[in-house]
Amino acid sequence: MADTVQIMCPNLTCKKVLAVPETARGKTVRCKNCQTAIRVPEASAAKPAKRTA
Ligand SMILES: [Zn+2]
Repeated sequence: MADTVQIMCPNLTCKKVLAVPETARGKTVRCKNCQTAIRVPEASAAKPAKRTA
């Protein structure tokens, strides 16, 4: 039911795409492949819904 957020591992030797739940936004997750700590971006960063009109 919950949406997932796809983030790519910043580790250049890994670059694995991880799917984490929306609830993980703003938190830090660990890459299952290389154990690198990755910060999951907030929703606003992914979807800029700003309108100036
Ligand atoms: Zn990784």
